[in-house]
Amino acid sequence: MQTSVSRPLFFCCCYWDGLVKSGSMARKVDIDKVVRQHLEMEQSFTGFTVKGKAEASQQREREDNMAAVEKAAELEKIADEVNQCRKCGLGSLRTNAVPGEGNPNARIMFVGEAPGADEDAQGRPFVGRAGQLLDKVIAACGLKRSDVFIGNILKCRPPENRDPAADEIISCLPYLQRQIELINPEVIVALGAHAARTLLNTNKSIGELRGQFHEYYAGIGRPPIKLMPTYHTAYLLRNYSPENRRRVWEDMKKVLVELDLPVPE
Ligand code: SF4
Repeated sequence: MQTSVSRPLFFCCCYWDGLVKSGSMARKVDIDKVVRQHLEMEQSFTGFTVKGKAEASQQREREDNMAAVEKAAELEKIADEVNQCRKCGLGSLRTNAVPGEGNPNARIMFVGEAPGADEDAQGRPFVGRAGQLLDKVIAACGLKRSDVFIGNILKCRPPENRDPAADEIISCLPYLQRQIELINPEVIVALGAHAARTLLNTNKSIGELRGQFHEYYAGIGRPPIKLMPTYHTAYLLRNYSPENRRRVWEDMKKVLVELDLPVPE
């Protein structure tokens, strides 16, 4: 049995079909005008409003905002766990844990090695001199710090900024893995050898790894995330040569191209 809705739809389809099949008419008609007329007719017969592009994109934006609120709440839970954590010896040495911060819907996630003295004092990632240089790198990309997410492999500062120990990485890495899983960025930029080696499970040097995309696997059944290793900004500060700056910029340009973002000169 046909419903009152299906009849007019059938009529409209015949009308549309007729217009398209009629060779001479199809050549002459303004296709946009025909589509508009078709939608208006369909609406007047069915009483349904056909969603325009603007409405659909507003709907998508509303869904994104809702997802961002839920993700932010989950990220907050992880931060609470990190702030209470004593799973490794660094927990009793820290002033503040540094869970990481940024946009829950970030397309780019920067991952460093571990907090330093300034980060330990403030409980925020990349706020010292190396952080200021990272801010400049982000700005050079035409982005703001609030566009990206910034975290570390270790959430607590190793004494005297020594390298992370294997047992500390094993204890702490699940926090970062959960953050990556939630944020699901399109690109991870691993800053320095420790971040790149840990996330890629390799012993290669940063010199060998940087400059090309690798794949980070966030979990079974999930597509890999592109990962670009580059020099840590703390290394860049210690070795501030035009050559090293150019290398980091070349790596970041590849990230921008990958994301279809404009590449500033
Ligand atoms: S470094 Fe990580 S695992 Fe160790 S105490 Fe801090 S948060 Fe916990």
